[in-house]
Amino acid sequence: MKPVSGTALDGLIEAVRTRVPDTGIVHRTDETLDSDPGSYLLLLRLRSPLLVRIGKRESRLPSGLYVYSGSAKGPGGLKARLGRHLRGNGQLRWHIDQITAHADDRAGLAFRSLTECDLTARLLECSSFCVPVPGFGSSDCSTCRSHLIRFQASPED
Ligand SMILES: [Zn+2]
Repeated sequence: MKPVSGTALDGLIEAVRTRVPDTGIVHRTDETLDSDPGSYLLLLRLRSPLLVRIGKRESRLPSGLYVYSGSAKGPGGLKARLGRHLRGNGQLRWHIDQITAHADDRAGLAFRSLTECDLTARLLECSSFCVPVPGFGSSDCSTCRSHLIRFQASPED
């Protein structure tokens, strides 16, 4: 695996680490993931704005940095699910597939003891993180406003 340094996601990775200390290594492909079940944060950069659809509703995502929290409990665990998102070439199955296909930078963080809702809550405690589209990726969740979070390091971003 080639080393990755100084990518567009560095500032976001640092901000996530501040909120969630036990972050571990940054995954760029499924090579570094194992097949255990767990939850994950998928970090994404959109270079240009994107229209996304939830059911019949269309929303416009501004360009910028995003975090999506999800869980991998099916066959193949984190390697299968997060690996799929990191490749960004899956068929449109989940809301997030609309974004990963257009992201020009992607990275993943894997967790064993925190749920995707724990992760969402921790990030949203910080004012640098906000919900861009209520309900995105959280159709099956009754506690989170969204499982997609936008990162804004400073207000003018
Ligand atoms: Zn949730």
